[in-house]
Amino acid sequence: MSRKIPLVDLGAQYRALGRELEEAARRVLSSTRYILGPEVESFEREFAAACEAPHAIGVANGTDALALALRAVGVGSGDEVVTVANTFIATQEAIRDVGARPVFVDVDAATRTLDPALVEAALTPRTKAVIPVHLHGHPADLDPLLALTRDRGIAIVEDAAQAHGARYRGRAVGTLGDVAAFSFYPGKNLGAAGDAGAVVTTRADVAARVRSLRNHGRTAKYIHDEEGRNSRLDELQAALLRVKLPHLAAGNERRRALAARYSERLAGRVEVPVPAGWATAVVHLYVVEVDGRDALAAHLASLGIETGVHYPVPLHLQPASAYLGYARGRFPVSERQADRMLSLPIYPELTDEQQDLVIDAIASWKRG
Ligand SMILES: *Cc1c(COP(=O)(O)O)cnc(C)c1O
Repeated sequence: MSRKIPLVDLGAQYRALGRELEEAARRVLSSTRYILGPEVESFEREFAAACEAPHAIGVANGTDALALALRAVGVGSGDEVVTVANTFIATQEAIRDVGARPVFVDVDAATRTLDPALVEAALTPRTKAVIPVHLHGHPADLDPLLALTRDRGIAIVEDAAQAHGARYRGRAVGTLGDVAAFSFYPGKNLGAAGDAGAVVTTRADVAARVRSLRNHGRTAKYIHDEEGRNSRLDELQAALLRVKLPHLAAGNERRRALAARYSERLAGRVEVPVPAGWATAVVHLYVVEVDGRDALAAHLASLGIETGVHYPVPLHLQPASAYLGYARGRFPVSERQADRMLSLPIYPELTDEQQDLVIDAIASWKRG
């Protein structure tokens, strides 16, 4: 059967905003100012305001945002960075990129994010940072983590790549730790038409360092305080993101409404996500847990409904992580979730009628 309901529908978003996006692109093309111009400056100001943070720095992608954030808080060769195994590999790559070593901890079964109770045992004298990942758009439990790291000189670098607009106890994600990394990969809650990212921080020193690092470590024309890299957000992507940013809050609201509707109707059939009382999640992904996950996915696919698995193999079991020496069984919650998680279609343009088709399809599934 042909695909009826995709996991994410970027076409629907384009149909809604196409004319404005094309106007913005034309404005940049005809200006011939393509790198570090007024669009990037304006987007940085607007995105910082949306995050309720004083500083946002546009960079090339979310992976670079993480690496530049780590470097800007002083993480380097020989250091250790604590994070979770249930995340996209970019989190791990950024740690390696600055010469540090990833140290994994397990996640909390309910929030699916870093379990703060497990962090203390993972700290060593070499620990320089912790990266909580706000997975699926649900914030990690930050207060216990901040209390633990505050007096130890350990930085908190939020991986907010899936969490634009999320809140933790009323505070905006991106302002909770020392610095945060956002991705504007096309499928994210705020997505560019290509790769793009941003570093957000409340610290002026960190902002200045990232601003320099993303542009070859330069402090003045052809004067370089340190070797940085080329990781600039370009004017075209910034202009497109400026068109989409004003729609982010309403999109997140719609995602939450769809999630609540899914949970109400699916409870009992599958394990539905239960946001923590302190969380305002932005539901980048709506992820259920179920035994026989692959069979359910195949059943839905046969009815034209696309699903995803985020992520099927936790990082500690990836071939790329063999050098870290972790064995299966080490992080039981992450491993069990990797086997049981299924992401259902969710995006602001998903209609109630489409969602009903997904819900009915799950109801019609006969477990083998
Ligand atoms: C998307 C993502 C990244 C990386 O962002 P890119 O823009 O694709 O480089 C990092 N961490 C998480 C959790 C992500 O989902």
